[in-house]
Amino acid sequence: MDEKPVCPRCGQDPSPYGAIAFASAESPTAAEVICGRCAAKLQAEEIKSLDDADKLIAETEEQIELVERILSKFPEMPAAFGGLDSVAMTPMSIYRTLQNCLEACENRRLELFQAMDIGQRLRHELDKAVACQDFERAAKIKRQLEKQS
Ligand SMILES: [Zn+2]
Repeated sequence: MDEKPVCPRCGQDPSPYGAIAFASAESPTAAEVICGRCAAKLQAEEIKSLDDADKLIAETEEQIELVERILSKFPEMPAAFGGLDSVAMTPMSIYRTLQNCLEACENRRLELFQAMDIGQRLRHELDKAVACQDFERAAKIKRQLEKQS
């Protein structure tokens, strides 16, 4: 085991993004250990709606905040044991992985948003405004929607 581990999906060294054991119920193959970048990409591909994207983005931002708090408390983390830096889970690798997830989610959200027509976008914005109890904004969007039809 002198060889450096590589991600089976992209063939790159998993560090500095950390490796994630990935198993899918639909996958006929056994669980594999893939890099954080590929894991983020896979997670983003699962997002089918803007609501899903918003939820995942909010969750990821919360997790990033938590890890930032840990990192600010312990700025000097010990190095991973020899040779394990590619696969070791450290607060820093988790942080980078989360940043990757966030970026992938935001890209996916944009993709979904761009695929929607103006009416769908407005209806989504309307749902969000109502959920936030921003009725002034909701009324404004409703007027825009009426102009559309
Ligand atoms: Zn990869």
